[in-house]
Amino acid sequence: MALALAQARAAMQQGEVPVGAVVVCNGQVVALGHNCPVGGHDPSAHAEMQALRAAAQALGNYRLPECELFVTLEPCVMCAGAIMHARIKRVVYGAADPKTGACGSVVDLFAEPRLNHHAEVVGGVMRDECVGILQSFFSERRAAARARRLAQASAADAADESSVPPSEASN
Ligand SMILES: [Zn+2]
Repeated sequence: MALALAQARAAMQQGEVPVGAVVVCNGQVVALGHNCPVGGHDPSAHAEMQALRAAAQALGNYRLPECELFVTLEPCVMCAGAIMHARIKRVVYGAADPKTGACGSVVDLFAEPRLNHHAEVVGGVMRDECVGILQSFFSERRAAARARRLAQASAADAADESSVPPSEASN
């Protein structure tokens, strides 16, 4: 999970929501991935998808039944689907995602008996660190948006002042 957090930090440096993932096969790291949908112009470029793609390429197999996926944020519906298609053995995540989590927060696809693959799922591993990096990313982003609004407002004020006719301004 520490490696997945390093990937999350890499995403943050690129201005992406900081989520990172690692695929481990028989105790060996086979692939890393970080969230990059904005930079990649790719709605499917979640950390898990990137790591699963890289792992499948590295192992030469689209099925990864001996692999475990570590990810800093609870997988969404798309990633849960890919995890099932890849036959991942075990999923370990850090922070729960109350908005899009598909491992129990919004829905629990891994508990759905009509879906034929059931990975073992463990949540809350290094939770504080995984939540912390997301919180600091979003609070920095809010602060930057506030600063932009203030700058725009003061630029508008300055424009108003400069548009006052000289005769009025001298009164
Ligand atoms: Zn996802």
